[in-house]
Amino acid sequence: MIKLVNVNMTFHGKQVLENINLEIARGETMVIIGPSGSGKSTLLRLIIGLLKPDSGEIWVDDKELFRLSEDEINAVRLKMGMVFQYSALFDSMTVGENVAFGLRQHTKMTDEEIAAVVRRKLRIVGLRGQENTMPNELSGGMKKRVSLARAIAINPEVILYDEPTAGLDPIMSGKIDRLIAGTQRRMNVTSIVVTHHMPSAFNIADRIAMIYNGRIVETGTVDEIRHSENPLVQHFIQGQK
Ligand code: ATP
Ligand code: MG
Repeated sequence: MIKLVNVNMTFHGKQVLENINLEIARGETMVIIGPSGSGKSTLLRLIIGLLKPDSGEIWVDDKELFRLSEDEINAVRLKMGMVFQYSALFDSMTVGENVAFGLRQHTKMTDEEIAAVVRRKLRIVGLRGQENTMPNELSGGMKKRVSLARAIAINPEVILYDEPTAGLDPIMSGKIDRLIAGTQRRMNVTSIVVTHHMPSAFNIADRIAMIYNGRIVETGTVDEIRHSENPLVQHFIQGQK
């Protein structure tokens, strides 16, 4: 379970998240939508403990992140995998080394064990045998899939996706959506997915939250959001067609 209570966040005096309250159940897929600059990536970075809020609480299961020591925060963070907005692969490392990165940092697995995990995770994302490819030889969609393989390598309980389908064609977007849904089912993870892309949101969400100007203006099931009478929500959905 992830729970944000009255979370506020400012950058250089500018309020980017205001009084955020949000609860995400274990195993749920929560999709966060909202215009550019509304605070979506900031929200993910708070949940994974990369940023500290000005005020409010962020709970991961029974732990409030910022009452923990640095070591304890790191332990909580190890339960989470993140697919960053710009894939954020290490360009000087092979695909295999990218996927292995977290395992090397945080486990005592042998090289053989790591190689087996990498092989399995690459197969899951449809990149079997690509261990020795360099990231700059890959398309945008393939990079996203490597990024997903890296996120699931550590068997996380929570996966955060920041715009996983941005810049991809509809076929690749559909493929990524199916990977997200498949990963959710296979690993029974909690998924938090930021997207601009309403067809993806409607495909994969259990619930959707819309952020506008740093505030959550609506939270609901796919059906509730589709039929929301909130003009901000309708405007956003219509703009996507
Ligand atoms: P996009 O859809 O374009 O990715 P977003 O909803 O993810 O946008 P954020 O990246 O969370 O938006 O940014 C929200 C606001 O916070 C923006 O006004 C942005 O300029 C500001 N911001 C984000 N990160 C920082 C930072 N490290 N320092 C200063 N301002 C920041
Ligand atoms: Mg963003």
